[in-house]
Amino acid sequence: MMKHTLFTPGPTNVPPEVLLAMAKPIVHHRAPDFDPIFKQACENLQYVFRTKNPVVPLTSSGTGGMEATVTSLLAPGDQAIAIEGGKFGERWGKICKAYGINCHVEKIDWSTSASPALIEKLLKDFPQAKAVFTTHCETSTGALTDIEGIARVVAKTNAVLVVDAVSSLAAEPLETDAWGVDVVVTGSQKALMLPPGMAFVSVSPKAQAMIEASPVTNFYFGLKGALKKLAENTTPWTSPVSLVVALNAAVDMIRKEGIESIWARHKRCAQAIRKGCEALGLNLYSQSPANVVVALTVPAGVEAGKVVKTMRDRFAMTITGGQEELKGKIIRIAALGYVEEFDVLSLVGALEMALRRQGYACEVGAGVSAALKSLEETMPA
Ligand code: PMP
Repeated sequence: MMKHTLFTPGPTNVPPEVLLAMAKPIVHHRAPDFDPIFKQACENLQYVFRTKNPVVPLTSSGTGGMEATVTSLLAPGDQAIAIEGGKFGERWGKICKAYGINCHVEKIDWSTSASPALIEKLLKDFPQAKAVFTTHCETSTGALTDIEGIARVVAKTNAVLVVDAVSSLAAEPLETDAWGVDVVVTGSQKALMLPPGMAFVSVSPKAQAMIEASPVTNFYFGLKGALKKLAENTTPWTSPVSLVVALNAAVDMIRKEGIESIWARHKRCAQAIRKGCEALGLNLYSQSPANVVVALTVPAGVEAGKVVKTMRDRFAMTITGGQEELKGKIIRIAALGYVEEFDVLSLVGALEMALRRQGYACEVGAGVSAALKSLEETMPA
């Protein structure tokens, strides 16, 4: 028997409750039946985003939400700042380039994350910048950025702070309103425990004013039009009805557990993975490690690609390797979304076996024992 589990930073495992909700017959997106479902979905999004601001649902993957944000806030020639600490930070710069935005891309060492002091300096160097594009959890490196500190710095300027929280929303603490984050982008297929297919974008009053003032250069991905329709409890285009129904089922589960408890569970699981892997002699790649995904450098003599392959094909557990410059150098393991503490023990056990099958010397049970010890210390009564 192969019981498949995703230990990837998206897509993630979808709970049976959510899968069943998607099997319901389709209602028409402009019929009265859909109105309460959509209203509930909007309220649910505000709950997970920790905001009273509107959260725009889009039919796309997370990148569509990023593109909608760039093209709705800025016009060609506008100045912006983007932080590139990995593949996803790099994406902000690429989207800006595609649309003729005059974006300064600040490249930082991929094993680090941007500090508030760096953002403060950049805003002094580029005082005309209208937006600062950041990444909460840089999924390609496993780094977490201090968004609270950065928000404090950006709030003092006319620029808006845009946060890619595609992988981190509902997994890491992110206080959209309390921290004063203008735009937060996330995707359905991560901690929200949904299939891929939707992006969500929260928009502060400061960002709404910028969108209102910006000449429209987009069509399908226009936040200006979407915000107007949202105020009428609808969307400009056909809603992905089944995914909206699924969103409500997923957020029902999230509300029952409580978002703070979910943040704590992700922390507990990530810590158990880190402790287990450290006991096996693996080192963390990032200097500011996130709980969304744990990135580990592979020891000499071990092939990262082979570890990923053995885990997937032999043990039915999907983990991922590194991308671009990190290909072959790291493996990435995520206990994201619908994953619980004891799943982590299976994961660490399988990882031990995969490593030993490559001739790597580690004592049987060393990783599992350390992960279990970590859970013993951190599991609530
Ligand atoms: N940003 C981050 C931080 C991500 O983790 C991802 C998905 N891995 C994306 C953006 C892109 O999202 P998508 O693949 O859904 O377009």
